[in-house]
Amino acid sequence: MDNASMNIRSAMALAKTLEGSDSPRLDIELLLSYVLQQNRTYLMTYPEQALTAAQQTAFLSLLQRRQLGEPVAYLLGEQGFWSLMLQVSPATLIPRPETELLVELALSLLLPESLRALDLGTGTGAIALALASERCDWQVIATDVQVEAVELAERNRASLSLNNVEVRQSRWFDRIPESNFHLIVSNPPYIDDQDPHLSEGDVRFEPRSALVAHDGGLADLSEIVTQAPAHLADGGWLLLEHGYDQGEAVRQLLAQSDFTEIKTHQDLNGCDRVTLG
Ligand code: GLN
Repeated sequence: MDNASMNIRSAMALAKTLEGSDSPRLDIELLLSYVLQQNRTYLMTYPEQALTAAQQTAFLSLLQRRQLGEPVAYLLGEQGFWSLMLQVSPATLIPRPETELLVELALSLLLPESLRALDLGTGTGAIALALASERCDWQVIATDVQVEAVELAERNRASLSLNNVEVRQSRWFDRIPESNFHLIVSNPPYIDDQDPHLSEGDVRFEPRSALVAHDGGLADLSEIVTQAPAHLADGGWLLLEHGYDQGEAVRQLLAQSDFTEIKTHQDLNGCDRVTLG
């Protein structure tokens, strides 16, 4: 490519160099929008606009990192989730669209108008902040064991001015003396360490500690289910994200801990994804 001649159109054509990506066109648009500080409609409207030398250098450097597999969200430092734009870093999982199902289900439950909710393993803060943004009368505690995640979730909380969220460092319930939550939610690590999915695509760049759990992926889910009853108010709900093939196992765990009204819901791909009780 003749460097001097790069415009929006020729930059977009480099989507073909992103063979490893599931969404090369979208990736290019996001990288280019970021470098030009314009939205994606602008790219369609002004295809002939030339990139400045600085824009071109910045764009090619991001493109190269994307070619090596780095997730777009880490390159841009942000990811949309629910109605929120969240800062992300390689210290946390990138919020996924599937996880919005958990938020949707939590908001659809018949719950008191003002309540106490707990999000275990919050990462960027995605679930807790989405819930708090929809329900200003809810008091939400968001925990993570990793200090970097706690700091990131707190930055996201502050930049969204969500004063009904407290971010706390805790490994699951370790630093949660409270016992009166109406709602406990979690997207814990649930992937088996032998799962080939771990060596494909964006997941390779995400922290293992946020993805992988012992006992075929069930260890953390099991720990949370076992301990949750002691922290739930009467009639409170537990909602858990899990793997597409873990619905039956999670329902069994909930039943063993005396949960009732246990039900698994499917994500947009038709996979079992969230179980509640
Ligand atoms: N759903 C994610 C994936 O398949 C995993 C999320 C998690 O482990 N909590 O990559």
